[in-house]
Amino acid sequence: MYKETAREVLDFIQRSPSCFHAVAEISRQLEAAGFKRLRETEKWLVEKGGAYYTTRNGSSLIAFRVGRELDDYHFQVTSSHCDSPTFKVKEMAEVKGKGGYLQLNTEGYGGMICSTWMDRPLSLAGRVLVREGSAITSRLLAFDRDLLIIPSVAIHMNRNVNDGAAYNKQVDMLPLFSAGECGENSYRRLLAEELGVEEEAILGSDMYLYSRTAPSIWGAAEEFISSPKLDDLQCAYTSLKAMIQGENDHCVTVYACFDNEEVGSGTKQGACSTFLRDVLQRLNAGLGFDGEDYCRAVAGSFMVSCDNAHAVHPNHPEKTDGENCTWMNKGIVVKFSANQKYTTDGISSAVFSGICRDAGVPVQYFANRSDSVGGSTLGNLSSQKVSMHTVDVGLPQLSMHSAYETAGIRDSQYMVDGLTAFYRTNLHITDSETFVMDK
Ligand code: ZN
Repeated sequence: MYKETAREVLDFIQRSPSCFHAVAEISRQLEAAGFKRLRETEKWLVEKGGAYYTTRNGSSLIAFRVGRELDDYHFQVTSSHCDSPTFKVKEMAEVKGKGGYLQLNTEGYGGMICSTWMDRPLSLAGRVLVREGSAITSRLLAFDRDLLIIPSVAIHMNRNVNDGAAYNKQVDMLPLFSAGECGENSYRRLLAEELGVEEEAILGSDMYLYSRTAPSIWGAAEEFISSPKLDDLQCAYTSLKAMIQGENDHCVTVYACFDNEEVGSGTKQGACSTFLRDVLQRLNAGLGFDGEDYCRAVAGSFMVSCDNAHAVHPNHPEKTDGENCTWMNKGIVVKFSANQKYTTDGISSAVFSGICRDAGVPVQYFANRSDSVGGSTLGNLSSQKVSMHTVDVGLPQLSMHSAYETAGIRDSQYMVDGLTAFYRTNLHITDSETFVMDK
């Protein structure tokens, strides 16, 4: 069972070469499960027992299912993110080099480990804005072939390469596109050909590099999975699966997957935006509730913010706190930070741990070393617009933000089981300090 779920995660990642493709794939799976699409620009009709989703910018998505009875109106939410560190192609996309070399002009998106992007087949995925009559339409585009490589400098020309390297993104990280056969304007021509449109019809684009290295299940005992973008597509998929199967007749269950986590979430579709609040307020109105009902519902709500966590590194165990550290294949990680970079507190940890314990799902606890800063995630940001009890969780992995990340083969199943139990357990919050877990 856990192997099948791990394969589903890897399959989902391969169908998601960009955040736009991830949202398209999530939409496809939601529709197959009976969720109806709502557009933000149209009036929403929402009913008890109904299941719906909406997207913003084509790169963030929120789905919700309204309980049939709705006798304990509140929201039980999971959140994750669908973007990953990569390189974005600049608007003036080509750089002419010596001897006919053609390179793509890119800039970094998020905090990637640069060296891991070198010497491996890369391609392009994203969206292109195409003029069709009086309309400008967004078209998904992903090249399903090896198109680019960022070549490293031979060790003979860079003898110090193994002594700690520095990478300049304007100099060292530009991908090679042609050795001379492709003339000027080839990049644009390539996009137009692939889309089957005239070059002049292309008015804009958001195109990113993606790694072509195939995911793998590996190890002498097949204990590991490796793939691009496990952070955070592993959580985006496992929470989606839990949302689809985790029905709850009493409340509203919500699945949110945000773009732009890797660049601080401060965009119109990011976790800091009004997106979640707008969706919750509109479904509140659609169900005939008023502002007082909304505030009461939010006060009784709970969010599980899902973003991958760090497993102990085999070569560098000293990088993690000796006790508050986590291991692959040992279950869901609950993350703590005294300064609240992670939102987890005693209450939210207790509630989530209680649900997992009842479901037989192992949980482990993480805090950064007290002398290191660590990363940040979604929970504390979305709380600024919609404030509810929140726990920050994730799955343990190695090499976060590498172009090829590694995780445990068993943990995806643990997340599916833990979050399914979370959705199915009706959390009845009588005040901010008392919780009843109804099955
Ligand atoms: Zn992440």
